[in-house]
Amino acid sequence: MFYRSLNGHYKKVNFETALKKGLAEDGGLFFPEKIKPLKSNFIDNLENYSDIDIAYEVIKQFIGNSINEEDLKEILSNTIDFDFPLIDLGNNIYSLELFHGPTLAFKDVGARFMANCLGYFNKNKNIINTVLVATSGDTGAAVANGFFKVKGTKVIILYPENKVSEIQERQLTTNGNNITAFRVKGSFDDCQNMVKKAFVDIELKNKFNLTSANSINVARWLPQAFYYFYAVKKLKKNNLVFSVPSGNFGNICAGIIAKKLGLPIDHFIASTNVNDTIPRYFKYQVFSPKPTIQTISNAMDVSNPSNFIRIQEMFENFESLSSFLSSYSFDDNQTLEIVKKIYSDKKYIMDPHGAVGLLGLKKYLANNSSKTGVFLETAHPIKFSKHIENTIKVKLDIPEKINKILSKKKQYIDIKDYGDFKKKIFSMH
Ligand SMILES: *Cc1c(COP(=O)(O)O)cnc(C)c1O
Repeated sequence: MFYRSLNGHYKKVNFETALKKGLAEDGGLFFPEKIKPLKSNFIDNLENYSDIDIAYEVIKQFIGNSINEEDLKEILSNTIDFDFPLIDLGNNIYSLELFHGPTLAFKDVGARFMANCLGYFNKNKNIINTVLVATSGDTGAAVANGFFKVKGTKVIILYPENKVSEIQERQLTTNGNNITAFRVKGSFDDCQNMVKKAFVDIELKNKFNLTSANSINVARWLPQAFYYFYAVKKLKKNNLVFSVPSGNFGNICAGIIAKKLGLPIDHFIASTNVNDTIPRYFKYQVFSPKPTIQTISNAMDVSNPSNFIRIQEMFENFESLSSFLSSYSFDDNQTLEIVKKIYSDKKYIMDPHGAVGLLGLKKYLANNSSKTGVFLETAHPIKFSKHIENTIKVKLDIPEKINKILSKKKQYIDIKDYGDFKKKIFSMH
């Protein structure tokens, strides 16, 4: 298996190189050269396989010869040691809960997989990989947790000041050891732009082995395909549609990979907050990001979603793309309204991201009532306790995983702009 650059100028690389480079040398995203559908015998009998066996079948073609079977299975069992419950909310609507990992958001799977792979590649080597990651809230926490004390790695997390929740900030800034947090004056897109710029910066490239741990990295992005298999394994239904609360569009893009691998999925819905570049793209066929707007579903405060180009790559043209994918945006009032309604009707507590997912699903099902809908509940509501508690008027229990970090001191380095960022990276090493 090889990866090619979506900018088209760079030579093909294997999984190990794609992971370590993050982005191709021409600045393009890596994309698998081929996607081979899985055997229908496997797809039709998912309930006979463990979650780890499913993960192995799904990921192995993307790893190729980079990791042998035994080691890959061990990496997967270190990655997936928690559950992905599917909650029946009635009326053919299900919530797929992806927040039962160590940092309580769905990004744990990708971050842990990538960290385990990099630790494996560096096992007998004396090199240090510097992992750069921009976060809109949850990625940084998952990456910090996944890479904590992983041999041969240093992690730098860039997060936007005052734009992540209190619990998210604690998760980013209280690790120490090989993890450093950079607090950036600006938005998530500013953080992401610094990371992208760093990758094509000769001075940085000559001094450090840089890699990224955003969903632009294939090792972070592809394992997210597992979720869709787990949902189908549990549901055993046809006419399935998935609504994915989307920011950088990595998760939904992995869902489309799962479909390409043979999962029986009829339609995807990319649900966004008011950062609506993609819903506008579907309406007007123009891709024109606006400045990022801060919302209560802050992990989706992204106006220039990096992975959309990967989605476009999988479709011939706009018509085939838009017949398979719909995209809707919702504001914070609508989000909190549905949180309140679902709590009062079902006693089910959602986080703002899952709520946006449910809004998109309901909108689609209104005209497609014969379908079964799954929305991804991507974070634990406690991460956004302020908004959720105010809305449902109930105090949330604090999970043990969060309690532990609340008393730890936040440590971060302030960053003004790219020049400042560069100076501070050099002074750290
Ligand atoms: C990151 C994140 C998203 C958005 O996922 P993308 O892959 O960036 O589209 C949605 N919800 C939560 C809770 C997240 O942390």
